[in-house]
Amino acid sequence: MLCESAALIEALSAILPALQRQAIIDDALAAFPTESFERLQKLGLLRAPLPVALGGAGLGDGATGASALLRVLTLLGEASLPVARLYEAHVNALQLVCRYAQDRLIRRCARDAGAGALFALWVTDPPESTLAMHRDGDGYRLEGSKAFCSGAGIATRALITAAMPSGIRMLIIDVEPGTRVLPSPIKLSGMRAAITGSIDLTGIHVPADALLGEDGDYLREPVFSAGAWRSAAAALGGLKALVEIHRGEILRRGRAQDPHQQARFGALVMAYETSRLWMAQAALRACLEDDDAGAIVAYVNLARLAVESACLDAMRLSQRSLGLGAFIAGHPAERVCRDLATYLRQPAPDETLVKAASHYFHTQLPGTARAGAA
Ligand SMILES: Cc1cc2nc3c(=O)[nH]c(=O)nc-3n(C[C@H](O)[C@H](O)[C@H](O)COP(=O)(O)OP(=O)(O)OC[C@H]3O[C@@H](n4cnc5c(N)ncnc54)[C@H](O)[C@@H]3O)c2cc1C
Repeated sequence: MLCESAALIEALSAILPALQRQAIIDDALAAFPTESFERLQKLGLLRAPLPVALGGAGLGDGATGASALLRVLTLLGEASLPVARLYEAHVNALQLVCRYAQDRLIRRCARDAGAGALFALWVTDPPESTLAMHRDGDGYRLEGSKAFCSGAGIATRALITAAMPSGIRMLIIDVEPGTRVLPSPIKLSGMRAAITGSIDLTGIHVPADALLGEDGDYLREPVFSAGAWRSAAAALGGLKALVEIHRGEILRRGRAQDPHQQARFGALVMAYETSRLWMAQAALRACLEDDDAGAIVAYVNLARLAVESACLDAMRLSQRSLGLGAFIAGHPAERVCRDLATYLRQPAPDETLVKAASHYFHTQLPGTARAGAA
């Protein structure tokens, strides 16, 4: 008998073509992928990141859970980067709840996810102000907003960060669908179906038991930085989609014998395979947490940047090979490149590289046996 995560991957693979077809429609309409999430809910994917004891499939738990979550995120990224991005935030929020929250809040979130609630992760403050949380009776009151919130107006639960005088805290809020979305002049050119906007949280009353962890836990390492492996895994799926689209089109046009096309396709496959190998290791290191925090963070930081670099190379090669056709609105390469280019803009890439470089200036390179290790 298949374990649940293996069965989930099989079931997800089977609906991949349907998710891919839906991604085209959702992008054209800039619409939230409601139908795709209904399918994911039916498969049990919204509860799957929870531990088995809480009704989940343990995605992300241990070595088996790491490779299962990697597979789920890359499959989703291959089908639709906006769906993968939304699902990645859902996983992140539930993992933080399970790590830092009290039992009661964990059970409530597990129940909600099991019932199909999509959790968002809204932690980006607008440049002009930080979301604040003030004492209000036996709870708290929020003042301010969050920016770049995916699932804005649709996600019904969100893990957010808010500033208290003592530091930054995480909390879970309930949001009524269709409410609190600020009219925003920002329109991202890619990832349109992720519905990324600004959310006004002013006036929301937060009960004390909605808080999780201690001050500063959201930024605690290695979890904070190593979590970037999940968005890189989704990007890897987008890269695979691009390679497949590229191959199909070059073959269809009868251009696969041309040495220039062959050379570029060879480089594309190298970019994909390099990313895949980095991600297999990064997923394991991030999920197992069996090394010191600095080593895990440095490795995952490099993996994230290796995937970013491979995706940027792949888009350049693919656009050169496919030509102007790949820029026609509605061409699959146009949509995937637009989504991928947007999604690759993750926080602080320069700092990420420099920090990882500093680490490896003073420690063994990856793959070097540790002193005392068997
Ligand atoms: C599709 C999409 C969906 C998203 N959804 C969410 C969401 O649901 N919730 C959420 O919280 N966030 C979300 N975000 C925002 C995300 O978390 C990051 O805030 C965002 O991606 C940062 O991108 P950036 O390029 O502006 O990063 P930046 O860190 O601003 O980097 C831009 C450039 O500036 C450089 N740089 C950074 N800091 C400095 C500095 N101090 N001095 C000099 N140079 C600097 C960087 O190295 C880089 O070259 C989303 C982003 C995307 C793309």
